[in-house]
Amino acid sequence: MNSQDLKHPKKDIGKLLYTDLLPLSKDGYDVTEEFLVHVVQIILDFLKKSNDRTTKVVDFHQPHQLREFLDMEIPDDPQPLDQLLVDCRDSLKYQVKTAHPYYFNQLSCGLDMVSLAGEWLTAAANTNMFTYEIAPVFILMEQVTLKKMREIIGFPNGDSILGPGGAISNLYAMLVARHKMFPNYKQQGLKTLPQLVMFTSEHSHYSIKGAGMVSGLGTDNVIEVPCDDRGKMIPAELEKRVREAKAKGQRPFFVNCTAGTTVLGAFDPIHPLADICEKYDMWLHVDAAWGGGCLLSQKYKSRLAGIERSQSVTWNPHKLMGSLLQCSTVHFKEDGLLISCNMLCADYLFQQDKHYDVTYDTGDKVIQCGRHNDIFKLWLMWQSKVA
Ligand SMILES: *Cc1c(COP(=O)(O)O)cnc(C)c1O
Repeated sequence: MNSQDLKHPKKDIGKLLYTDLLPLSKDGYDVTEEFLVHVVQIILDFLKKSNDRTTKVVDFHQPHQLREFLDMEIPDDPQPLDQLLVDCRDSLKYQVKTAHPYYFNQLSCGLDMVSLAGEWLTAAANTNMFTYEIAPVFILMEQVTLKKMREIIGFPNGDSILGPGGAISNLYAMLVARHKMFPNYKQQGLKTLPQLVMFTSEHSHYSIKGAGMVSGLGTDNVIEVPCDDRGKMIPAELEKRVREAKAKGQRPFFVNCTAGTTVLGAFDPIHPLADICEKYDMWLHVDAAWGGGCLLSQKYKSRLAGIERSQSVTWNPHKLMGSLLQCSTVHFKEDGLLISCNMLCADYLFQQDKHYDVTYDTGDKVIQCGRHNDIFKLWLMWQSKVA
């Protein structure tokens, strides 16, 4: 590509280098503007093509072919800005057009333009979500939006966090459940625990098994419960397995109820599962990563009837709600558990003597350190729609 391909070239940035951009070049604003306007033009062209039903969703090539078309090696010398623009355009050329009307793939599709605008702004703000100090607006936005989501679920109080995906959200739920029942685990580890077992349907997402694996239970202790012919967990089969586990001296502590299974889109019946959890003192988690969006629909929210009886909920706005990837939330009915489970009080980051209320800092609620700003693209998108 050369500058003639572009719609409004103000200045030929030709062979200029990154050193001609801000901040390395003190008067690099004009070049920077020109470079970024070119990038925006490339993006707009891509979006236009993506929304054209006569274009292919993907121009597929085998890996070895793509390696031939696209020179991806890191060069020895800095590449000029016009070459970077060629790279930008070529990179999109062979990318799957996930915004295409004919794109349907694993549970997220479409490209919400307002959410995209939010993601651009997020990139420009380029901040980290661990403290109020470094992301004041976005931390407050998180609080407001997550509170709204808890209200929709039916948790009047509680706490929530945005994390890197539903699998991690499910892991958080399981870790917090264990912390609530066995607070000594945090300091003393597995030796203080009885043999814990958790339950999930045979159609549930594999991340539940993953949570059992990484948390030290072992996948044998993630017990699969049979489903009916519509793919819903059978409550009587759950109760049977809970009793069997207790008879073996194991401690059933966690039930995962899937609201929207990955393959069939089935909703496990929450009320009967909640009854069993109350009877046997188990934590009820609802994995509504996919189906959570139905809570916003008058027509479909009854599929999640009883969700307010659970102790925790995973809900991915990047699925049914259409927010850009990645956007995943996990919600807890009880406040204070998430922080007490995960906090390690790193004092270089979470000083307690700051001149603002440090309970606004979210960094010690998670097992990550830094956390990406996933709120702005969701918040902005939600502003644009009727609730
Ligand atoms: C998608 C999905 C997950 C995993 O979410 P990621 O964001 O991909 O980690 C977990 N559970 C269910 C039911 C899902 O649909």
